[in-house]
Amino acid sequence: MISDKVLAMCELMNDLLYQKIPESRHGYYVNQSLSIGYQTAGIIKAEFGENRAPDMEDLYRKFQIKIEFLEKSSKNCGVSFRAQSEYGKGGSAKVLIYMESIEMLASKSQYDLPGETYEGMSRKQALNIHLAHEFFHFLEYKSSVKQGGHMTDIYDKGYVSDYLEPVPLISFMGWKRKGSILRCSEIAAHAFAKELLGLPVLPNFFDYAYLMNEKRLRPEDFQRMVEENGRAFCS
Ligand SMILES: [Zn+2]
Repeated sequence: MISDKVLAMCELMNDLLYQKIPESRHGYYVNQSLSIGYQTAGIIKAEFGENRAPDMEDLYRKFQIKIEFLEKSSKNCGVSFRAQSEYGKGGSAKVLIYMESIEMLASKSQYDLPGETYEGMSRKQALNIHLAHEFFHFLEYKSSVKQGGHMTDIYDKGYVSDYLEPVPLISFMGWKRKGSILRCSEIAAHAFAKELLGLPVLPNFFDYAYLMNEKRLRPEDFQRMVEENGRAFCS
């Protein structure tokens, strides 16, 4: 199995500011983001699932988050969405689920690597993974400074990308700018979904599996990225 740290590192590499992160800080962003996700899942399991994964639709009801199922996926710059969160001014929350895209992902989520078998997701599992992922973003939103730091008993860190230290960017005429690493929120949401649902692998693996099955990512390129990230964490 590819380790969570390695898959988290693959996610970190997608950050717009990745090149600005000193190599010595990769471990900080990966480890902190993962552990925030795991810990939060532990709290939710203990509070709402008797230490098991709670029923996701039940959990959404408890937190008054609406789920809207849509068949057609919305496309933005050629990227099709599978789930999107919308927060209203009065504190309302809604998660839009694009079933067609989720089913497509599930149907192409099985991919074996040399010597390793990875089971794909069922339609229901894929749905639950997306609901868990968006639920974590809901906790980030609710506890963010803008929202007055609500729900501190469950989660109190706001957006993980704001909570973790920013990277220094260019300083110009004495102005020092800093940038948040947005992908840290994604890493934490993946770790949350994995821990909450007891998945065998960090769920961004399924995105890579899908891309390889679709022939949009060459398996050798994926393998190389995994090996390089693995070496970086073992050295
Ligand atoms: Zn996300």
